[in-house]
Amino acid sequence: MRHAVVVGAGIGGLTAAAALKQQGWAVTVLERAASIEPVGAGLAIAPNALRALDVIGVGDQVRKLAAFQGSGGIRTKTGKWLSRTSAEAAEKRYGDPTVLLHRAVLANLLAEKAPEIELNTPVKLVTADGVVSTSKGELRADLVVAADGIRSRVRQTLFPSLPGPVYAGVTSWRFIADGTAQPSESWGDGQVFGVMPLVGEQIYGYATAPAPPGGTAPGELAELRRLFAGWHDPIPALLDRTDPARVIRTDIFSLETAPPAFHVGKVALLGDAAHAMTPNLGQGACQAIEDAITLAYTTDLSAYSAARLPRTTPIVKRSRTISRMTAWRNPLAVAARDTMIGLAGRLGTTAALRQMDSVFAWEPPVRP
Ligand SMILES: Cc1cc2nc3c(=O)[nH]c(=O)nc-3n(C[C@H](O)[C@H](O)[C@H](O)COP(=O)(O)OP(=O)(O)OC[C@H]3O[C@@H](n4cnc5c(N)ncnc54)[C@H](O)[C@@H]3O)c2cc1C
Repeated sequence: MRHAVVVGAGIGGLTAAAALKQQGWAVTVLERAASIEPVGAGLAIAPNALRALDVIGVGDQVRKLAAFQGSGGIRTKTGKWLSRTSAEAAEKRYGDPTVLLHRAVLANLLAEKAPEIELNTPVKLVTADGVVSTSKGELRADLVVAADGIRSRVRQTLFPSLPGPVYAGVTSWRFIADGTAQPSESWGDGQVFGVMPLVGEQIYGYATAPAPPGGTAPGELAELRRLFAGWHDPIPALLDRTDPARVIRTDIFSLETAPPAFHVGKVALLGDAAHAMTPNLGQGACQAIEDAITLAYTTDLSAYSAARLPRTTPIVKRSRTISRMTAWRNPLAVAARDTMIGLAGRLGTTAALRQMDSVFAWEPPVRP
């Protein structure tokens, strides 16, 4: 039986482990942390990733447990709608709208399909011929899946001269709070605030703002209140009822120089390890899921690189471009940007959706 070792049990590694197991591989998953997916935040799963999840029989469970992104759109910080989205139009065009759920819910669904995960097992070294070293010993594999995230040690070993992730100039906050709200993402002069309903009368809130890398505030919730004071409803009220302990701060980096390939020898890079991107398109995990399904159904790793490198590189670039636009602070640039979004918004939801065709209309290599 062919043996695969998956390094990292994030969304990418878990999906790969489930898909490879389904394809008849013996799979070992090595995770350095003591538990899977500790980040207590929401996750948007777009139609392309739902289609990929269908291949391993997880799509319908996600649809059942997730909130459908209703009709929302982009607003200014005063609450004026610049453009609108429609879940119905998305469903008609792509078969599904984007859905939202707790990260842990998706991680647990994937873990049920994956083989047992060896926790507390950091991988120290991976060689191109498939040797994986951990503190517990050495494994030999026919395939090593490096799903070890944005700071991937495996990527650094395989491509030592590749520039590392670049700071996008903004930091992010994520939290979950009780309540209901219309979905929206509001853009100000440098800051963004997103409000996305989850099932069970909960809201996934996220925000970004320019900040030096590595910074922290004495109280992150207080920092959010300060930054978003005076923004439209329900933002201040939502922050008022947020538990400070549930606010997670993460600096935003992206891998602006793609590796020359997503594989070397028997090792495949997957997810953020291969193509970490800013979160502006909500596609980081979705692309990791696409990678995983493609990998499990691709005959050799050259074909995997050939399929995934040209697919993900423009998405990384597009996310970064949006990230830059959201960080603009110059009032003239902000006004011009908002006018442009408003004009595009007037063309209607179908026109807005059409711009996402190349991302959302992706088809997996097989249909269940
Ligand atoms: C603010 C924010 C919002 C986001 N929102 C969305 C969204 O709505 N939709 C979306 O699709 N994406 C979103 N993303 C992106 C998404 O979170 C990532 O792209 C995704 O989690 C990457 O998954 P991964 O499995 O590749 O990596 P990770 O989730 O980083 O997992 C890597 C795993 O590898 C383990 N690991 C690392 N090194 C080792 C080692 N040496 N040995 C063993 N294990 C190791 C880590 O502990 C970790 O568990 C967002 C990101 C941010 C920052």
